[in-house]
Amino acid sequence: MLTARDRIVLEIIAKSTEELRPIIDEKGVSYPDAERIFDLDREAALEKLNELVKEGAMTKKRIDSLVLCPNCGSHLMLAKPSCPSCGSRIITKGRALRHSCGYAGLEQDFLEGKCPICDKQGGYEDLGIQYRCENCGNVFRDPKVSFLCLNCGKESDYISAVIEPVFSYRLKKNKSKLDRLESILKKSYDVKMPGSIRGLSGVVHQFNCVLNDRSGGLIVMDIVARELYVGEDDAFRFALKVMDTAPKRAIFIAIPRISEDALNLLRQNKVEVVEAEDLDEAVDSVTKLLRA
Ligand SMILES: [Zn+2]
Ligand SMILES: [Zn+2]
Ligand SMILES: [Zn+2]
Repeated sequence: MLTARDRIVLEIIAKSTEELRPIIDEKGVSYPDAERIFDLDREAALEKLNELVKEGAMTKKRIDSLVLCPNCGSHLMLAKPSCPSCGSRIITKGRALRHSCGYAGLEQDFLEGKCPICDKQGGYEDLGIQYRCENCGNVFRDPKVSFLCLNCGKESDYISAVIEPVFSYRLKKNKSKLDRLESILKKSYDVKMPGSIRGLSGVVHQFNCVLNDRSGGLIVMDIVARELYVGEDDAFRFALKVMDTAPKRAIFIAIPRISEDALNLLRQNKVEVVEAEDLDEAVDSVTKLLRA
């Protein structure tokens, strides 16, 4: 079941990003945007995304694959190349040449341009970058690859390794109550929803909304929805972006409420704070605030 807050968050996402894409690091696949937007840890955020797919609110699309260890499930798999003919691990990479006598070897074998077999110069065909086995002399383009698991130490070939799909998540219905806000604001401002600004530090910051009041005044706005109240973490994140981008006005919308500490932190940074029960109320309050 989608909660009321889920629906609000989905509308905010709909207005701020098209797609939630994963990052892959030593801990595995994660969705940092989803973690931030839903205020969940790694695993819970992934669970939430799949729940939203089940509810029909989002769709997921395969965008990548990971190789997993069949023994322990780890994705920390080190590729180990070997000779496809004899299996030796002692292989050398280089530019391969074929001499007119039929001998094929790596460039470095042709000392002073002479073929090591027939001792004659000239008449080489360039075979491109290839590998040579130092055990059996085989020259080949595609080494056999197996995988060493850095977690449990077991080695597996590509037949036994597990292929794990990696997904990106997209909103099914890209409709948001914030569309109403956008069309209201467009009458008086240049509106970007979402918008990004390069800060004094050089970092590019994303905001749910960036406004220009046509005399060059910059207004930035973020909307955060939490289960009970918006806390200091969210306030701090916004305050940092505001410090770095130095807008004329900064507006922070908290759904449904904001904690005392978070409110103080934002006020110290001259951020205007709006509390709203839902997006309709948020749109009304912001409209009023920006007309004032
Ligand atoms: Zn070999
Ligand atoms: Zn030769
Ligand atoms: Zn393993």
